[in-house]
Amino acid sequence: KITLDNVVKTFDTFRAVHGVSLEIESGELLALLGPSGSGKTTILRMVAGLEFPDSGRILFGDVDATDIPVRERGVGFVFQHYALFPHMTVAENIAFGMKVSKVRRSRAEIDARVNQLLQLVKLPGLGNRFPSQISGGQRQRVALARALAVDPKVLLLDEPFGALDANVRRDLRRWLREIHQELGITTIFVTHDQEEALDLADRVVILDQGKIAQMGTPRDVCRNPNSAFVTRFLGDAN
Ligand code: ATP
Repeated sequence: KITLDNVVKTFDTFRAVHGVSLEIESGELLALLGPSGSGKTTILRMVAGLEFPDSGRILFGDVDATDIPVRERGVGFVFQHYALFPHMTVAENIAFGMKVSKVRRSRAEIDARVNQLLQLVKLPGLGNRFPSQISGGQRQRVALARALAVDPKVLLLDEPFGALDANVRRDLRRWLREIHQELGITTIFVTHDQEEALDLADRVVILDQGKIAQMGTPRDVCRNPNSAFVTRFLGDAN
């Protein structure tokens, strides 16, 4: 379980995150949903250990995350613009994290794991292609395979399908849900797309100007929006 307890993050004088408290249960797929600038990415970066709260605490289980170095947090990332290395093949991209990880693996172990991941993300046989030789949707699947290669305990996805067209996004959504069901990894998914969040997540956290406007299951927040902001924001999806 990951706990955020009254987390505040200010850039210069601007409060990007304004006292956010929330708990993410193990195995849950949680969406952080909100308009541009509402603090979603900043929260994700703090969970990852790329930013630190000014005040408040983030706990991994019972341990204060400030005591856990980034590489030991067991987090995997996929970002919208976190491009694959263009000069490496798909297989080399996926293997990259395993090679820099502290866990030593033999060449054969790495190859076996890469093949297993290619099966998982439904791209068998594409290991020798370069990123320029596959589609945008396939590239995001490879990015997810790369994130999964080091067996993360937590997956952080920041608008992973943002750059893709609507049909591809829908397919990838279905696919991500299947993968999540299969692996059960705690996942935080950032998006500004209401439909995507409501369709994908176990629970949705709606952010407005660095604060939680509402959180609950997709059904709860749709049936009982608690403010004009939430009504308007979710209404945009319909
Ligand atoms: P988007 O969907 O546009 O990425 P977001 O909800 O993810 O938005 P954040 O990226 O978390 O929002 O940013 C929240 C606010 O904090 C924004 O107004 C942004 O300009 C500001 N901000 C974020 N990072 C920094 C930084 N490193 N320095 C200064 N301001 C920042």
